[in-house]
Amino acid sequence: MSVAVNLAKIEDRILKTCIRAGRKREEITLMGVSKFVPLNLIDEAFASGVRCFGESRVKEASVKFVNWKNRDGAQIHLIGSLQRNKAKNAAQFFDCIQSADRDELIVELSKHAHLRANLEKPLKVFLEMHTGEETKSGYENLDALLKAAELLLESGNLEPAGLMTMAPWTADTGLIRSSFRQLAKAKMELEKRFSKTEWRLSMGMSNDFEIAIEEGSNLLRIGSAIFKD
Ligand SMILES: *Cc1c(COP(=O)(O)O)cnc(C)c1O
Repeated sequence: MSVAVNLAKIEDRILKTCIRAGRKREEITLMGVSKFVPLNLIDEAFASGVRCFGESRVKEASVKFVNWKNRDGAQIHLIGSLQRNKAKNAAQFFDCIQSADRDELIVELSKHAHLRANLEKPLKVFLEMHTGEETKSGYENLDALLKAAELLLESGNLEPAGLMTMAPWTADTGLIRSSFRQLAKAKMELEKRFSKTEWRLSMGMSNDFEIAIEEGSNLLRIGSAIFKD
């Protein structure tokens, strides 16, 4: 297994899909999902040019990346569900929280984001939407999402950055595609109401990233295809 070879293969597939879908490669960020991955493999991904990393747990990330904070352009995002009592640590450690799935969490993150060492960089937040059948987390519908976006825009020290979803785990590509379409549609609605904010779409994992690119993804969260295959 070689991280560099895996990344080259993924990059090739991303490029081909972009060409087929009429999209620009530079609209899309490739995140390396590094949960449970040891630092030496993460270093290999960094050496191959990956600058955005996703972790699912606050504790694991803050221990693993303790010496990484000033690493050339690296960004670490939380992509796993966040308990309220860990919001303070999360707000201080991460560059971005992608799993904001309820209003009380937005309030809590805002309360603690001023403790960040580098206040010139506000804490970025993605709102998570529930579009599939399996995962239970995320805002359930457009109405709830619009209200959350309003709260997020009013909250100090937070920067609205986009929408995140996980498609259901299934071989049925139609279901996966309709999940991504729901998120893309929600983004269009948000852009109508809150036109000054750029809402990026975080969707697509190892098994479904090509569909996600076709449906407008701006951020692919890829773990096993980089670090395991
Ligand atoms: C683990 C995880 C991923 C990456 O999944 P792979 O199938 O390994 O690419 C992406 N997003 C979230 C929210 C995850 O928890």
